[in-house]
Amino acid sequence: MLPKLIFASHNPNKTSEIANLLDGTMLVQSLNDIGFTKEIIEDGLTLHENAHIKSSTIYQLTGLNCFADDTGLMVESLGGEPGVFSARYAGEEKDTSKNNQKLLSNLTNVANRNAKFVTVISLYLQGTEYFFEGILNGTITHQLIGEQGFGYDPLFMPIGSNRTLAQMSLDEKNKISHRKIAFKKMADFFLNLK
Ligand code: IMP
Repeated sequence: MLPKLIFASHNPNKTSEIANLLDGTMLVQSLNDIGFTKEIIEDGLTLHENAHIKSSTIYQLTGLNCFADDTGLMVESLGGEPGVFSARYAGEEKDTSKNNQKLLSNLTNVANRNAKFVTVISLYLQGTEYFFEGILNGTITHQLIGEQGFGYDPLFMPIGSNRTLAQMSLDEKNKISHRKIAFKKMADFFLNLK
């Protein structure tokens, strides 16, 4: 029987994507799969804290091996903003278009547009916590470009590319993304345990 790993998320799409990345080495179940319906308050001040809050909450309540991820966009000339507040940069309603407009307006006449997406994973395995991190470096464009993806994708051009993430297919984005890099590290960790 495959070892079971709970993903501290209610998102079924993310769960199947990650199960895929772990390449059949683990059985990944979401919070929906185990009937956990409560919301976990993510009030940490860093990506590490938020990932830790989610995975440690589930570990303490279930005693099961589990992991959680948290992602943010960090813009150099804005001192790392929006960072851990990426989803609610322009307010608690988590409106993507308002977030993007706020970012553009905060970068008006700013020459340094260097930015990075960072994904942090906290894994609880037999009671020990491990962290994995994935980074995608790029720049913030001067206007929205592209229709695909989500969040800040239309404003983010990865280093070495002349297209934003929103101009890439999901497959293309998933080959280079911060999330992919972090999950690949976790998958490799499991493969090396064998
Ligand atoms: P989460 O931790 O994956 O929920 O991400 C938090 C927020 O960061 C999202 O609501 C988006 O605003 C932003 N974000 C995370 N990943 C991406 C991405 O791959 N592209 C664009 N925006 C992202």
